[in-house]
Amino acid sequence: MSIQDTFVFTDEKFADLQLLRYQVKGFDQLTLRQKCLIYYLSEAALWGRDILWDQNCRCNLPVRNLLEAIYKHYAGDRTEQEFQDFTVYLKRVWFSSGIHHHYGCQKIIPAFSEAFLRQAASQLPPGVLKLAEGQTVAHLLDTLCPIIFSPHILAKRVNQADGEDLLLTSACNYYEEGITQQEAEQFYTRQKKDGDPDRPVMHGMNSRLVRRADGRLAEDTYRSGGLYGKAIDHIIRMLQAALPYAENEQQKAVISTLISFYRTGDLHTFDRYAIEWVADTASQVDFVNGFTEVYGDPLGLKASWEGYAYFTDAEASTRAQKLSDNAQWFEDHSPINPAYRKPVCKGVSASVVTAAMLGGDLYPSSAIGINLPNSNWIRSEHGSKSVTIGNLIHAYDEAAKTGGMLKEFVIDEATLQMVTQYNACCDSLHTDLHECLGHGSGRLRPGVDPDALKAYSSTIEEARADLFGLYYIADKKMLQLGLLPCKEAYQAQYYTYMMNGLISQLVRIEPGHQIEEAHMRNRALIARWTLAHAPEAARMVKREGKTYVKVTDYPALRTAFGTLLAEVQRIKSEGDYEAARLLVETYGVQVDAPLHQEIRQRYQALHLAPYKGFINPRYEAQTDGQGHITDIQVTYGEPYDQQMLRYSEQYATLSHSTR
Ligand code: ZN
Repeated sequence: MSIQDTFVFTDEKFADLQLLRYQVKGFDQLTLRQKCLIYYLSEAALWGRDILWDQNCRCNLPVRNLLEAIYKHYAGDRTEQEFQDFTVYLKRVWFSSGIHHHYGCQKIIPAFSEAFLRQAASQLPPGVLKLAEGQTVAHLLDTLCPIIFSPHILAKRVNQADGEDLLLTSACNYYEEGITQQEAEQFYTRQKKDGDPDRPVMHGMNSRLVRRADGRLAEDTYRSGGLYGKAIDHIIRMLQAALPYAENEQQKAVISTLISFYRTGDLHTFDRYAIEWVADTASQVDFVNGFTEVYGDPLGLKASWEGYAYFTDAEASTRAQKLSDNAQWFEDHSPINPAYRKPVCKGVSASVVTAAMLGGDLYPSSAIGINLPNSNWIRSEHGSKSVTIGNLIHAYDEAAKTGGMLKEFVIDEATLQMVTQYNACCDSLHTDLHECLGHGSGRLRPGVDPDALKAYSSTIEEARADLFGLYYIADKKMLQLGLLPCKEAYQAQYYTYMMNGLISQLVRIEPGHQIEEAHMRNRALIARWTLAHAPEAARMVKREGKTYVKVTDYPALRTAFGTLLAEVQRIKSEGDYEAARLLVETYGVQVDAPLHQEIRQRYQALHLAPYKGFINPRYEAQTDGQGHITDIQVTYGEPYDQQMLRYSEQYATLSHSTR
């Protein structure tokens, strides 16, 4: 029994952010052994926090150290405006795991003055700032103030602007300063020549590219004894503690192989781990822990660290399982060139899970679906595992109910009613189609480099999965499988998808900026391409000065999605970089300034936060006094700032001084 049941969904709101809580429903029904497994996997998910902060930008940890010291020890008036502004800035930096916006990647500019920061820092009690040997507080501030206040220094975490040197203009820390895009691309082109061309390892994913004293480029590998070794040793320790509680032999192999990977940094070992992980479909408790997604690297090679512990929600998984069981049918009927269909669709496993702990790049802002591994050849030979995260989706839905977004942006009462009625079931179904089938479908033409689309690959891949879902959600098959209540229900998804891609997602973009993030680019691309190529299906209309999407022919919209899916699959299968560039740059990037301004004004009048993240629950082990765990208790009450400060203290692994 849980002692504390003070569960609340929404917590706090500041800037463009809102913190929610997610409930770990069903935790109390797990066996003690499973609870212990989750406990240690959760600890492993938290120990890599500092890795991500350092990956995002080399200045993040020193800045966090300075800000947290002031937040804890500030002796002035905490109710005055500058301190309030300072607090908002710190909370935003926590949310983004660094000084750049977690989604838009631009630097967060503080509302308080440099004079305030210098004054506050100079009055700190001696010893609370971790200074490097010989460093003074004044020297630290001279280093950090330009980084915090100047909009021009380290301006973007990930720059994707076509035609610029993407490494020299990005602040992320995957490449040593001064290494150019061309140098890095040449380095990895050479690396790719070695090894098995049919089963390539993911070159560069677990290292920082540096320049040695003799000028040659080399990799500093993330591993025990290497870069981030101290954090990795703690993760290994927690994985070892989890091992005795593994649910079966297969899961033991997964954990042991991951430990070997962390010890060696060897990418073949990583592939073996991924294969073992895919093969473990029997365990109810599962996890992700490691260098995983490449969105934080402008070249799409280097993976950010993330950690995640979860368990299967058996009831909700039936839905996803129905799709998985029919994977081959979907593949065979896909409206793409038959040469690019997978002849045998294998091992597409899917389930709905309950998140138990979020860490690294999944905290506090988290994906609601996960599809891994990312290696193309492992996916086609061994399959992939796909999960949608039920309790996070539920928390979002609860927050959206009170929002008012739909009422403002949906064109009329009849459409609003239809959307409200079917949106929730359509949303989960589209996510399932995207994750369970979309990413796993299709194949490359033999000999095509999986990285051929370079900076455009993430956007094209997300578009492919989204289009697959959009095309099939309107199929009779959904009714036959009992996944939608009626044959019009899909229209809710079509309407909201178009509305989001054309209108509502613009609220997330700052004035004067373009669309940068892969998922946002993909949604804009699909919606705008459809408007341009199927004007009979949908158009933009203006009513009383407000812009809306009007869908006039839903079946025609489906045909358009199918046509675009075929083209996007062709681009991916053939590695047609030029076509990818043209498609993304034409439809996925630009923002129409007057429309943008209108949408932002309408949105601001609603007083909502466009981005949401989650506060983690807390697990505490009860012991019998002789070191044996008798139960694990989950509690939810921890405030956002307390959780962040506790993590910074408890899971500190990297040096806080600037290098
Ligand atoms: Zn996706």
